[in-house]
Amino acid sequence: MHKLNSKSCYVNAKKINEECGCFGIYNVENAASMTYFGLHALQHRGQQACGIASSDNSNILCIKNQGLLTEVFNATVIDKLIGSNAVGHVRYATQSENIIENVQPLMCRAHQGEFAVVHNGQIVNSQELRFELEQNGSIFQSTSDSEIISHLIQKAEGKMIDKIKAAANMLQGAFAFIIMTKDCMYGIRDNNGLRPLSVGKIGEGYCVTSETCAFDIVNAKFLFDVMPGEIIKITPDGVEHVQYTTNTQHKMCAMEYIYFARPDSDIDQINVHTARRNSGRILARNDEVVADIVIGVPDSSLSAAQGYSEMSKLPYELGLIKNRYVGRTFIQPTQKQRENGVRMKLSAVSSIVKNKKIVMVDDSIVRGTTSKRIVQLLKDAGASEVHVRIASSPLISPCFYGVDTSTYDELISARLNVDELCEFIGADSLKFLEVDEMFEGNYTNNLCVACFNEVYPTQLYSLGKILKK
Ligand code: SF4
Repeated sequence: MHKLNSKSCYVNAKKINEECGCFGIYNVENAASMTYFGLHALQHRGQQACGIASSDNSNILCIKNQGLLTEVFNATVIDKLIGSNAVGHVRYATQSENIIENVQPLMCRAHQGEFAVVHNGQIVNSQELRFELEQNGSIFQSTSDSEIISHLIQKAEGKMIDKIKAAANMLQGAFAFIIMTKDCMYGIRDNNGLRPLSVGKIGEGYCVTSETCAFDIVNAKFLFDVMPGEIIKITPDGVEHVQYTTNTQHKMCAMEYIYFARPDSDIDQINVHTARRNSGRILARNDEVVADIVIGVPDSSLSAAQGYSEMSKLPYELGLIKNRYVGRTFIQPTQKQRENGVRMKLSAVSSIVKNKKIVMVDDSIVRGTTSKRIVQLLKDAGASEVHVRIASSPLISPCFYGVDTSTYDELISARLNVDELCEFIGADSLKFLEVDEMFEGNYTNNLCVACFNEVYPTQLYSLGKILKK
C-alpha cells in the first residue's frame, strides 16, 4: 500500500469557459423544483448566474440572480415558482457583460402575450441586428445577444410559431433556445447544430436540455435531439416538429466532446466519455514515447488518459488529484480575476509520480500557463520526465460561437509552434492529435473544428474583423 504524499499547487480552475446551460420542463408537477435539479446537472456549463421562470398556464413568474444555484435558490424561493411548466438557465458570460440585466431567463411582457427565453450560444450577426432593431424603435434592457430574439419575435407577424420561424431565420451563429409562453414550450436549434439540445419524456410531460446528463437527475428518458434548423413545439397534444430552414449542415462544437460536456452526456447520441476515451487511444496509437505510467488532468482528461493507457499498455495511475470542494473559487469569469488568483487547488501524488517517466494526458492547451504549472508541479513531486499528450489539436483561432476564446492573445498555439510550446510548458515532449484524428476520435465528421483549422461554418459579420488575414 502506498502512503499518499502529495505536492499541491494552485492552477486556474477552468481553461476555457463554456457559455451556458438551458433546461425546460413541460406538464410536470412542481416544474420549478424539477428545473432546479435539472440545472444542477448543468452547473458545469455556467457558474456566474442562474434563473428559473415558471408558468401556471396563466402567469409567468421569473426569479434570477448572480451566483450558483445553491446561492440563488432555496425551498422558499422555489415554492414561489408555481405551475407545471418551467425554463431555467445557468450562465457564464462570454461576449456580454456580467450584469443582472443579462441574467436569464429573459422575460418579454407585451400586449401580444408574454414569454421567457433561455439561450445557449452566440449570435454572430447580433451587432448588425441590434443596430437595425434600435433604429426601428426597439429599446433593449440588456447587453446580451440573447435578447435579440425577443425583439425579432415581437416584430414578426402571425402566430407564435410563425414569429419564432421568422426570428430564427434572421439569426446567424450558434444558438439553442428554449422559449416558454404561458401554455407552450419551444426548442430551437441553429442551422449548423453548433450547440446541443435534446428532448426527453417524463411521465405525461417533456423536458428539454442542453445536455442529456440532466435527464437522469429528473428521471426523464431521452426521446430525440432537436435537429439543425428545427423548431419543436410542445403543447398538451404532444410535440410538433417544424423545420424553419432547409439550409442546414451539422457542425456540433468539437469542444463539447473534448472539454465542455459531462462524460455521462450523449451529444448528438455519441457518449462523451466514449469519445474522449477513443481520442486517447488514437493519441497513443503511434506514440513511441518510453514511460512508466499514464495520468490524466482531472476531470475532463481522465477518459482520454484511460484510452491512452489501454492502447499503450502503460498503467493508468491517479497522479493528480483535484480538490472538489472549492465552492465559490470555482467561478472564474474574467481574465483579470483569473490573474488575481481566484484559483483551485490541484495536488500531485508524490508517492505515485516520484522517479517516474510520466505521460500526462490533457484535453487541450489554451493559454499554456495551466499546463506549465502542472508540469512543474509533477516535477516538484519527483517525476523524472513529463511527456504531455493533448487529446485535441492546437487551438490556433478564436471562437465566435459562445466560447470565451475570442482573441488570438488568449491562444498560445496561435503564437508558438509545438516545439516552442513544449519548451514553454517545460515538458520533455509534447504531442497533439491531428484534426482528422479528432473526427475519428469523436466518431463523427459532423463537427465544427474552426478554432483548430480556421474554417468557420458561418459568416462572421463584424466579429470576423479580428481574424488574421
Ligand atoms: S470554434 Fe471551436 S469552440 Fe467554437 S464552436 Fe467551433 S469547435 Fe467549438
